[in-house]
Amino acid sequence: MNIIKFIESFPDEASCRFHFKGVREKQGIICKKCGCEKHYWLKAKWQWQCSECRFRTGLRSGTMMENYKLPIRKWYLAMAFMSFSKKGISATELQRQLGHSRYETVWVMMHKIREAMGKRDSLYGLSGMVEFDEAYFETETSETEKQHLKRGRGSQRQQNVAVAAESVPLENLNTGEKGKQCRYFKMKVLDGHSSDEVNNFIGQNIEEESIVFSDKSTSYFDIADYVEVHVSEKSTPETTKTTLQWVHIAISNAKRTLLGIYHKIKGKYLQLYLDEFCYKLNRRYFGDRLFDRLAIAVATNYWQDNG
Ligand SMILES: [Zn+2]
Repeated sequence: MNIIKFIESFPDEASCRFHFKGVREKQGIICKKCGCEKHYWLKAKWQWQCSECRFRTGLRSGTMMENYKLPIRKWYLAMAFMSFSKKGISATELQRQLGHSRYETVWVMMHKIREAMGKRDSLYGLSGMVEFDEAYFETETSETEKQHLKRGRGSQRQQNVAVAAESVPLENLNTGEKGKQCRYFKMKVLDGHSSDEVNNFIGQNIEEESIVFSDKSTSYFDIADYVEVHVSEKSTPETTKTTLQWVHIAISNAKRTLLGIYHKIKGKYLQLYLDEFCYKLNRRYFGDRLFDRLAIAVATNYWQDNG
């Protein structure tokens, strides 16, 4: 999908509705009430009806679009702008492009799309050789947070982010030089710097049979309990360039991208921006298919999450 194909495929709201319906049906409609997956389409009502209990599912029910009245075409346009631009787009710019009157609506919609990106990536764990480190991201403190902080402190705050990168060994066939190629990345905001926070991150995001590389921080002492092997090296300029090469490249890219587009990120939204960054980084070779994947992520039924 590119802008030309987008205009051809989605000229109006009806085309977007039909597409969204198709994406949902491909994934399978699941009844919220009984869990049954067999449904009939009620054409006049634009709803699916469960063949077991007759419970009806609306076009947007259970998806990221549920409870939002915004036309689906605006969602699609937002997804298009977010996936076509390599670095991302600000809510102000998107609002301008959509010709939408309310900034807040556009802002919320973009965060819902980012949330869908995060949920999609959380389905996959990293495995094999995994680099791990932490980084500080500067965020703005909200008014309530400011009240809790001591007077005299600025409105900026450093937030600790766990960063992991899955890589595969690579040998240059011409020179015989050994290196690593990166594959997938994860970035999660941590509540602090404790080993519990780190352990949770490792447990939830990295498969058990992995080899994790990190520096020698005391918060990393238990990592070996969660994975096959934990290799820790003293942090030097050399390890930064080799052992932890990809996490550091990802961290500096993320900081540059986030700062370039969003000048002030509030602490509580940092995770959503990181989710977008990682989602796109993990799909950097998808090219034209990125929009279609994003449509699937937004159309996914999230009832299963709530049990
Ligand atoms: Zn049912």
